[in-house]
Amino acid sequence: RTFKRQMMCRRDIDSLSVPFLAIYESLIPPEEEKLKQKQLLGLLEKLVSKEWPMARLYLYGSCANSFGVSKSDIDVCLAIQEVDMDKSKIIMKLADILQSDNLQNVQALTRARVPIVKLMDPVTGISCDICINNLLAVVNTKLLRDYANIDTRLRQLAFIIKHWAKSRGVNETYHGTLSSYAYVLMCIHFLQQRRPAILPCLQGMDATYSVTVDNVDCAFFDKVEKLGHFGRHNKESIAHLVWGFFFYWAYCHDYANSVISVRTGSTISKRDKDWTRRVGNDRHLICIEDPFEISHDLGRVVDKRSIKVLREEFERAADIMQYDPNPCVKLFEPY
Ligand code: ATP
Ligand code: MG
Repeated sequence: RTFKRQMMCRRDIDSLSVPFLAIYESLIPPEEEKLKQKQLLGLLEKLVSKEWPMARLYLYGSCANSFGVSKSDIDVCLAIQEVDMDKSKIIMKLADILQSDNLQNVQALTRARVPIVKLMDPVTGISCDICINNLLAVVNTKLLRDYANIDTRLRQLAFIIKHWAKSRGVNETYHGTLSSYAYVLMCIHFLQQRRPAILPCLQGMDATYSVTVDNVDCAFFDKVEKLGHFGRHNKESIAHLVWGFFFYWAYCHDYANSVISVRTGSTISKRDKDWTRRVGNDRHLICIEDPFEISHDLGRVVDKRSIKVLREEFERAADIMQYDPNPCVKLFEPY
């Protein structure tokens, strides 16, 4: 592997944007799906407020961060201040409340790393996970959505990358590969470091939004409509960016020493974060700093075997983007 290998992109790269955009368009959820999600949220709010009038429900994850493809499940967070009840008790109680209504397959998963209630609404056909007081996820959902509103190329790139990762089987944290959330952060980082930059660093600007959640100060510039079209000086096409993304992760990222950090709009050194060795089951073979929980490496699930799989997939994709006559087909071939 040659670090920072220089390579020219193929000449016909921009013509590939047409098929890539067609894939992107085909993944966008139709308006009626959004309406059904709102309908289900309304039903849940009604049921929850009967028992807990002060509680609130928030959508988070891909149904709210604008990176959700068609037919995704929805992620809901119940914000509740019941001091005398632990999370698993609340989960049991919540499952109880929802069970008695017309919802199907209501399951309380109290022993999961993040305890949740899972359910399916037979009317809309939508499945849903409800967690308790996970407000950092609500805030990072807002950050991602604000980034998406700056330049449409982020949403396009992230849809294509998520679709690729699902097709190739590298979007499975329980198998040591990366979450959708991690891939979106990789896309944001990538667009922050293009020259000229396509995205700014919202956490590096004067904050217009600021909350403290679980003792973490979350502050960033959220008036993104005021940025004009921030990325206008960069004219790179979506196909060029897909090529660049894979090329970056295949041949340019310094896995041994660098951490990607959307928070700083740059990379930082592994040594500064003390992410140089394995601690328990946490390895740091690819390092992606969470924008708010900065001691949290989203790459910690990746192990010795899966880092190899991931890097080979990045190289495969980069090579397809460089040489294949029909990259839009080959790239997404099931593994
Ligand atoms: P998908 O379309 O695949 O469901 P998603 O955007 O819902 O994608 P997930 O990876 O399922 O992405 O994560 C859902 C949300 O949970 C994220 O948007 C994020 O707010 C939060 N989240 C997920 N993983 C983490 C993590 N490791 N640390 C902090 N927050 C996380
Ligand atoms: Mg999700």
